[in-house]
Amino acid sequence: HELTHLAFHDTLSQLPNRALLIDRLERALARADRRNASVAALFLDLDNFKVVNDSLGHQVGDRLLVAVAERLRSCVRPEDTLARLGGDEFVIVLEEFAEVDEVLHVAERIARELQDPIVLDGQDFFATASIGITLSTPYQSKPDSLVRDADLAMYRAKSNGKARYAIFDQTMAAAAMARLELETDLRHALERGELRVHYQPMMDLATGRVQEVEALVRWAHPRRGLVAPLSFIPLAEETGLILPLGRWVLHEACQQLRAWQLQYPTRSPLRVSVNLSARQFQHPQLVNDIANVLRDTGLNPADLKLEITESVMMQDAGGTGDMLRQLKELGVKLAIDDFGTGYSSLASLQRFPLDVLKIDRSFVERLGIDPEGEAIVRAIITVAKALNLAVTGEGIETTEQLDLLRTLGCDLGQGYFISRPGPSEAAAAIFADAATSSYLSVPADTGGDHRSFGNFH
Ligand code: C2E
Ligand code: CA
Ligand code: CA
Repeated sequence: HELTHLAFHDTLSQLPNRALLIDRLERALARADRRNASVAALFLDLDNFKVVNDSLGHQVGDRLLVAVAERLRSCVRPEDTLARLGGDEFVIVLEEFAEVDEVLHVAERIARELQDPIVLDGQDFFATASIGITLSTPYQSKPDSLVRDADLAMYRAKSNGKARYAIFDQTMAAAAMARLELETDLRHALERGELRVHYQPMMDLATGRVQEVEALVRWAHPRRGLVAPLSFIPLAEETGLILPLGRWVLHEACQQLRAWQLQYPTRSPLRVSVNLSARQFQHPQLVNDIANVLRDTGLNPADLKLEITESVMMQDAGGTGDMLRQLKELGVKLAIDDFGTGYSSLASLQRFPLDVLKIDRSFVERLGIDPEGEAIVRAIITVAKALNLAVTGEGIETTEQLDLLRTLGCDLGQGYFISRPGPSEAAAAIFADAATSSYLSVPADTGGDHRSFGNFH
């Protein structure tokens, strides 16, 4: 008996394991079929458990899981199955409920039970869970597919903002399929060389000169055409593919810039900005990777600017300062991107070794539309100047916005009004041309008419 217990129970929580769960589900489904009823499966995953485990160690993590298991047990009847699949994943199987509401009540009860802090060594921990719920279809459901569907619904609960439940529907299966397909395609995209880097000029607002570009990744998908980064960067971030992808963009952009510097010496110093995602920025190898790229391409570190969004910088201000200082030691420039959308503390801003602040497009958009928009941009520029940062305004789409930013003392401007992002040939055309705006006559990646703007030289 001891041995069978071991084989079917999780040693940490003493709860049934996956093997026993599947067995119980099998029986429950058979019983339900006879009564033409349903079985409910609740897939539960703790939110942010990884943070506890990584920062406080596995021992604390394990004790937290045991405490959570205890609370979950108090939410179900003795005849219900509560199993632990491993990690911070639990499954609850409910039978013989009169209506769906009863199942939802269990999910709500769990949320309530977890509200009180779990106290370990005098320290309070607050656990929340994301729960996916699915109901079996008589004579159709299999144990594995039921667990899988509940898992998909849990995934939806997470992406809807965690600490909530979601009920499975068929669109989730379709979305999961599409995601899987995209992930496979993206993996191949790297190997098959389907990624491209486009460049968007940044104009010195005082002189009208263009000496800087921002590198923006594109995916030349064999069937879908040119795919914008917002439809694959989040997935790349989630799957970890962002690391090789980001390394490739960095190398490509630095190599391209070095070639331009040699080709257009009178325009020197030409500079490039490259975006870093959260995962790249938190990766311990980043500093090494960048040093290698700089060495391989022979680019002067001061000609590379790294853009990190405000929200990523503020996620863990302690770690951020360390990483920024290490990057700074390489000699590269640092920009805070999408400024105004996160929650910066001025104290952290002051401590970070930054060079540039990029005003988020949403503020530039309001310039000239409402007086508040102008007041906000003015305030941001004042803060930036007080901190000794250069300011870039992004998303400039009208001449009014451009003029206002210039008047308010903004240093660099970027936006469709100046130029859309385009392939390297388009950027080269602007560098080659000493006085005109021939860049705009080269087709860029997004269609639409380009207003001619003969203001850079
Ligand atoms: P971002 O860093 O804020 O880049 C600026 C985005 O605004 C670009 O979108 C650009 O095409 C767009 N934009 C520029 N001017 C205007 C304008 O006047 N009006 C409007 N409406 N939009 C304008 P894109 O290229 O689609 O990139 C979106 C985001 O994807 C970027 O936002 C950046 O966060 C991310 N991204 C792009 N390339 C990379 C990359 O290589 N690595 C990483 N980690 N993220 C990237
Ligand atoms: Ca950027
Ligand atoms: Ca931005």
